[in-house]
Amino acid sequence: MIHKILIANRGEIAVRVIRACRDLHIKNVAVFTEPDRECLHVKIADEAYRIGTDAIRGYLDAKRIVEIAKACKADAIHPGYGFLSENYEFAKECEDAGIIFIGPKSDIIRKMGNKNIARYLMHKNGIPIVPGTDKLNNHSMDEIKLFAEKIGYPVILKASGGGGGRGIRVVHKEEELESAFDSCKREALSFFNNDEVFMEKYIENPRHIEFQILGDNYGNIIHLCERDCSIQRRHQKLIEIAPCPSISANLRKTIGVTAVAAAKAVGYTNAGTIEFLLDDYNNFYFMEMNTRIQVEHPVTEEITGVDLIVRQIRIAAGAILDLQQSDIVPRGYAIEARITAENVWKNFIPNPGTIGEYYPALGPGVRVDTHIYKGYTVPPFYDSLLAKLIVKAGSFELVVNKLQRALKEFTIDDIRSTIPFLIAITKIKEFRRGYFDTSFIETHMQELLEKTEDRHQENKEEVIAAIAATLKKIRESRE
Ligand code: ADP
Ligand code: ADP
Ligand code: MG
Repeated sequence: MIHKILIANRGEIAVRVIRACRDLHIKNVAVFTEPDRECLHVKIADEAYRIGTDAIRGYLDAKRIVEIAKACKADAIHPGYGFLSENYEFAKECEDAGIIFIGPKSDIIRKMGNKNIARYLMHKNGIPIVPGTDKLNNHSMDEIKLFAEKIGYPVILKASGGGGGRGIRVVHKEEELESAFDSCKREALSFFNNDEVFMEKYIENPRHIEFQILGDNYGNIIHLCERDCSIQRRHQKLIEIAPCPSISANLRKTIGVTAVAAAKAVGYTNAGTIEFLLDDYNNFYFMEMNTRIQVEHPVTEEITGVDLIVRQIRIAAGAILDLQQSDIVPRGYAIEARITAENVWKNFIPNPGTIGEYYPALGPGVRVDTHIYKGYTVPPFYDSLLAKLIVKAGSFELVVNKLQRALKEFTIDDIRSTIPFLIAITKIKEFRRGYFDTSFIETHMQELLEKTEDRHQENKEEVIAAIAATLKKIRESRE
């Protein structure tokens, strides 16, 4: 049994976990940094403790968070996503302090949190991986170059410790390799404190398909179908869909069986996600495993009817997974749109500020996961996510219409948000048809900006002209 959970996170995911605690009649504890004093998670939690004045370091202060958990007699910690969620040392510290870490064991996080080690382990267990470098230790520039010649360009360089779309460089020709390698290493060191870089073949125009996994402490593991996360900008997800509208039931079954085998191979427990790339010929490759709850988990909840946070908590408390693979029958379609505080017309730079009028979309089949409210000031220190809008319906056509309807209804005044850009996505033919790959946003950028109807668009014409010129240059250089 778990009696009290400390949530080592902020914003919408902290709110989401607090709500699950309430549903389960478990006491909950929020932590917050000084700039987050007015954030919704602090207001709605049973108890809240300040973890320092430093905006970022507060949520990364593992020692202090464990101390608070001990002092307020919390018997478990939920790490959310980002921050300490994939930090095996933090999970270990919780284990050593006798506090339940709501996630997999620290040893699994250590192995699967490093993309290069995970690739190696998966390959050893017969799971298909993208062709690429095959050494476990750090790769030198010369080794990378040799491998690139062997597998052929384009290639993609990745930070072993990377995440959130950071530490990734696509290289189209040999002349670009060395500078990409250096800048990838620099970014990896500054963001992840680990400059290890490896390389994969760059799969052209793939779909990003990921499977949600749940496993208990007794070896029972199932998947909860897939999400299509191909709508990305700069390797970061904008829109996620469950199930994937462009794969057959047979292919779903094949990849699903592989995903469960991958999780079993490492003795995975709790919730996790296995990400795959799917090429034009339906070849699929393991890309990485996220050993935590994901931002886009609500779409899976909506089509399967399984509350993933409640399951995480129960599994961590030692419950047996009372779901079998045959119990998981997806119903209809769900889409999540990430609404962020960004200025579309200034290359999507974060745009913090104070929210004026605020009316979230409502109505049948609409869910909003957020921590914002009228009068809330978005601090500049964190991820620019304002709200996740999740809609569900019986068919893909209906769910896209509903997404468009809900986005048009959603009002967040006085700060710039990506709502008008997201509405533009719902107007594009390829999106509406349900067949798109990870190049969708880049390929359609000009059309998307033209269709973005924003009250603040003083430099719209210039931005569109600049995008058109850049796209033309890229096309020419690749011909
Ligand atoms: P998801 O796969 O759940 O969609 P994202 O890749 O969008 O997750 O990342 C979720 C959050 O976690 C983002 O705020 C991102 O910046 C952060 N994040 C992801 N991986 C890491 C990492 N290795 N280190 C630090 N932050 C990370
Ligand atoms: P992160 O931890 O930042 O999420 P991932 O390894 O999951 O990093 O990659 C992020 C995105 O980059 C993927 O969703 C995909 O669009 C793209 N990507 C990654 N590896 C490849 C590859 N080998 N070929 C083509 N695209 C890739
Ligand atoms: Mg990923």
